[in-house]
Amino acid sequence: MGKVTGFLEIDRLEQKYQPTGDRIRHFKEFTLPLETRDVEKQAARCMDCGIPYCHTGCPVNNQIPDWNDLVYAQDWKNAALNLHSTNNFPEFTGRTCPAPCEEACTLNLEDAPVTIKSIENAIIERAFKEGWVQPQKPAAQTGKSVAIIGSGPAGLAVAQQLARAGHSVHVYEREAKAGGLLRYGIPDFKMEKHVIDRRLKQMEAEGVIFHYNAEVGKNVKLPLLLSTFDAIILAIGAERPRDLGVTGQNLKGVEYAMPFLTQSNKRVSNEPLKPSEPLLYATGKHVVVIGGGDTASDCVGTAFRQGALEVTQLDIRPCPPEHENKLMEWPYWPTKFRVSSSQAEGVAREFAAATLAIEGEDGHVSRIKCARVNTKREPLAGTEFYIKADLVLIALGFNGAYSEHFAKALKIETDKTGHILAKNTNYATAHPKIFATGDARRGQSLVVWAIREGREVAEAVEKVLKEKTLT
Ligand code: FAD
Repeated sequence: MGKVTGFLEIDRLEQKYQPTGDRIRHFKEFTLPLETRDVEKQAARCMDCGIPYCHTGCPVNNQIPDWNDLVYAQDWKNAALNLHSTNNFPEFTGRTCPAPCEEACTLNLEDAPVTIKSIENAIIERAFKEGWVQPQKPAAQTGKSVAIIGSGPAGLAVAQQLARAGHSVHVYEREAKAGGLLRYGIPDFKMEKHVIDRRLKQMEAEGVIFHYNAEVGKNVKLPLLLSTFDAIILAIGAERPRDLGVTGQNLKGVEYAMPFLTQSNKRVSNEPLKPSEPLLYATGKHVVVIGGGDTASDCVGTAFRQGALEVTQLDIRPCPPEHENKLMEWPYWPTKFRVSSSQAEGVAREFAAATLAIEGEDGHVSRIKCARVNTKREPLAGTEFYIKADLVLIALGFNGAYSEHFAKALKIETDKTGHILAKNTNYATAHPKIFATGDARRGQSLVVWAIREGREVAEAVEKVLKEKTLT
């Protein structure tokens, strides 16, 4: 908790953003951090609510009232220590988390929760600035070795935990750099990539060895990993895009969200594109984004920054209510009308809108045929309408991991969408040496859940490695 009467005396003060007209001219982060004194005052608003409901909203079990209290007491160093005790990468969650903790905050009953997310980000940024984030090398090596396949937040969290426990940790990553969707999905305006790089430096100094351009199942052979390492952790994400299933999807100008976002992120970071890759731009185009989640929102913000003429977003769900019924829904994540920073940049939003067909001229998309839907998501006759489109981005979420190779070679099980079956107590698959974690196991989720799963699988693997050598 912060100051006992803080919540009565101090109003919630949110971080401001650069105005939309300024921020869409660049790809950099656009949040304007609060002054240190203001952050301390915001932390003082954390009340002595007895049961810290914020805990129920935090998958990594952050000790939120404790670090609020430390920030209020101006003990930033211990706040950073506390924060790191539950979360390896608060700089990732401090930027990208939807902050279910704030929904669960007791002060949210009055619609003015503690600004937990921006306090978290302020703590970790201060920690980096002051040089408090240093490599934590293990006192001794165990002689055991672990291969981690995939370097998204789940893979990075497990790698850091196991390297600190003294194991020899090798991360195999298909791409040229580490970070998974943090690097190749989430745009720079939500998180600049030097934020990942400075953490990787710490991890390398802690002994983690990264192998890039190393796709397991292609240029890195699984049997070699199996014979070399004591345990293997699959953290390969859930990359299979969900299909729209309408006619016209093969027209030019109709793309899945991820190639569009990945290409844009690579361009921003001056990373080379594959020579065979078609160039994807929203510049000067009427863009339609199909989908209502984070990925869709990131497409919207990216399209604006690339100079789209107009951007329309189609959501099949009905427009949610402006306010939730607190007494029915608090402290859980409520369905309510939300406007992401990208949507606030000027998107036209269509709710209860189904895509019936994508139509084109000369092989290129020209418009989308839509209709309103009823509560069962069935199109309503007579409600059809058209939207002009030169670029259509399909952002309907993901349908599991590309796990076929692993399932076949390792005789591990997957469900029908490709999620790798591993228990959520010990993350063990059907193969004694193989564990699975993150989106690959739980399905498309959040950065904070990936970090939690990374930490938990590390604990499970550590326990098993201590007990026996896996065969
Ligand atoms: P990933 O991040 O997907 O990482 C998997 C890694 O495995 C990748 O680096 C991939 O290259 C590698 N890999 C796959 N196969 C192989 C192989 N055979 N060999 C070697 N390497 C391999 N969550 C939030 O909390 N907030 C957000 O704002 C947010 N925005 C998002 C925006 C987009 C566009 C997307 C797609 C997702 C977003 N998410 C967000 C979700 C979040 O990014 C994911 O839940 C999280 O990254 C999952 O982490 P992961 O480590 O399990 O998998």
